Amino acid sequence: MADTNVEASFSTLKQTIPLLLKHKVSAVPTNYALWYTYVSNESPDLSSAVDNLIENKIALSEVRTKELYRNYLAEKEEVSAWELRQSVEGMLIQLSQSLNDTRSETSTFKQTMDNCVDDLAKVEKEGLSIEEVMALVRNLVKETQNIRRSTISFNSALSDAHKEIEALKSQLEQSQQEALYDALTGLCNRRYFDEELATQSIQPGLCLIIVDLDYFKKINDNYGHVMGDLVLKATAKKLQATCRDGAQAFRFGGEEFAIIVPNASFAKARSMAESMRKAIEKIGVKDKRSGEVLGDISASMGVAELQKGMNPLALVEEADKQLYQAKNLGRNRVMPMS
Ligand code: GH3
Ligand code: MG
Ligand code: MG
Repeated sequence: MADTNVEASFSTLKQTIPLLLKHKVSAVPTNYALWYTYVSNESPDLSSAVDNLIENKIALSEVRTKELYRNYLAEKEEVSAWELRQSVEGMLIQLSQSLNDTRSETSTFKQTMDNCVDDLAKVEKEGLSIEEVMALVRNLVKETQNIRRSTISFNSALSDAHKEIEALKSQLEQSQQEALYDALTGLCNRRYFDEELATQSIQPGLCLIIVDLDYFKKINDNYGHVMGDLVLKATAKKLQATCRDGAQAFRFGGEEFAIIVPNASFAKARSMAESMRKAIEKIGVKDKRSGEVLGDISASMGVAELQKGMNPLALVEEADKQLYQAKNLGRNRVMPMS
């Protein structure tokens, strides 16, 4: 590895950490890889996506960071992991290099001291008193001991660094396996919904839409679970396609979905829900066995806006209450009406 590469990745590394702190995302390898790539500007698409979020004042939460990671880096995962290791290894090389330097300094120093002792007689001839020479020697011994101590503490710092790197590596493997997405629909799952909502609810202007498919049990009963699954997939696709300006769709559970709409007025969130309702009405799923196209799919939705002092749970409850109203009033509608 050339020195300049080490230096460059080290410098990127130094710029990455403050960004992780600034955006309050934990320094797990995927987040780290994402911000590292942002700083190094290796992926202009990623950089402009991040800049766009920053411009729109959308919090770069854990889940959003992971979403970005999936969209822009997942296929380059190997490269990122490799780069990450390169930069960590670069640091390690620097550390061990300076350790070697310290060691060689120590031996050079000892050599000097030995020479000095050997030359005692000569020095004496040159007029230094034995006391003066002995003071010099004592000083050299003391210095050597200092260097020895710093070498020991450096060694232990190095072994800590080793441990950290090992932990980082296993975290990287773990985070790659962690289930973040719903396997059926590909949307973010409930766990990340909870995290994301907690993060976003710090910001004003947050709305929530809860979507529940109408009479979904009948679809399963009449056409089977496989068709039911296809309807869920098609719904997820429509919801995602209708998300605008940072809105994000999640699979909330079973045949329920949730959309977090940041930085939006209630009217805007409601109109987004209305577009989603219309998009779902248009779904047609073909039964491959019979060739029949299953239509007449609809969903009911509840919309709620985060009020001052409201906690995320209360926001979910409010959207749920509105959803319940929509069901009671005959389904296939968005509540409240305005
Ligand atoms: P409502 O209009 O009141 O919402 O009626 P519903 O039939 O949609 O509601 P209900 O809660 O009675 O039924 C939901 C059904 O969704 C029951 C469950 O079997 C089905 N379901 C939940 N998860 C899945 C899934 O992953 N795949 C399939 N195929 N069905 C699922
Ligand atoms: Mg339901
Ligand atoms: Mg339902």
